[in-house]
Formats: sequence, C-alpha cells, structure tokens
Amino acid sequence: MDRTEPDNSELFDTLSKRNASFLGQFSHSDLTAPALEQVAFLTCMDSRVEPLRIFSYELGDVKVIRNAGARVTEDVLRSLILATNFLDVTSIVVMQHVDCALAFKSNDLVVSGLKVPVSPADETRDFLAMPDPDQALREDIALILECPLIPTEVVVLGIRYDVKTGGIVRVL
Ligand SMILES: [Zn+2]
Repeated sequence: MDRTEPDNSELFDTLSKRNASFLGQFSHSDLTAPALEQVAFLTCMDSRVEPLRIFSYELGDVKVIRNAGARVTEDVLRSLILATNFLDVTSIVVMQHVDCALAFKSNDLVVSGLKVPVSPADETRDFLAMPDPDQALREDIALILECPLIPTEVVVLGIRYDVKTGGIVRVL
C-alpha cells in the first residue's frame, strides 16, 4: 500500500464505549439467522433512514441491505438470492427516500463533485445516480423480478420514505 493508513485506535475506543451500554442490556443471544418477519429491505445508506425504527421492528426481525441510493446492484442481487434461498425471506422492499443525494442528479454531476482528483479512467465510474428516481425504482425492481435465482413467489414492493415527515408512499 502506497499511502499511510490513518490511526484507527481512537475510532475503536469510541465504538467500544458506545457498545458498553448495549452489552449491559443484551438479551438477543437466542436469535437465529433467518429473519423473524421474513422481509428484506434494500434502502439507502442515508443516516436519516433506518428501517428498524421506521417500522417498529426489533433486532432479528428483518434483513437490511444498504447502499448509496438503495440501488439494485450485482452485489445486492447476490444478497437477495441468498436471503430468499437460505434465510426464509419471502418479501423484498426497495425503499428510496426523499432528499436522496443521488436523486435528480446525473452521474457526471456526481463525478464532478468528488473531492479528489479524478483520473480519466474514473470519469466514467457509475455511481448509479438517479436523474429520475421513479424510473430508477422501476428498473431496480425489474432487476429483482427478472433474477432467475430469486423464487418467483417472492413479493417485491417499491416505496419512498419521507425524511421530513417520517411517512412512506407506495411507488410500485
Ligand atoms: Zn439516499
């Protein structure tokens, strides 16, 4: 590696302290890997979006897959195939949100906003920006429905969470 790794000790110390209060009340050792509610959420990494809290779920209730924009990528399909084939998931919810940093933007705009120098090879890197979020959701759900390794009986729903009100609307 040709760059010095920043020291991560302080980060671990901070997390250890934050984990201490959870350890003090931990009572989840009986939970199993399959989700109790048989639902998998795909949502954005946005820190305002947290499916467990939004839908009053508890630890162990649902699967949550997150990435920037809640986009269906090859790796998301990998997780959904495993969740539906091995972990009892029978419903998939793709949940975009209002005020997403990738919404109503072109990929070029995202690339031009990067803080670091961008090499020619990276100028075409696809950040899966969403000039039209509804269209992106339609395409993402189609990728799930068309995936031959996800059982056909799995229910797929597309919704959008409003970070200003806490509510959801059905899109697909
Ligand atoms: Zn987002």
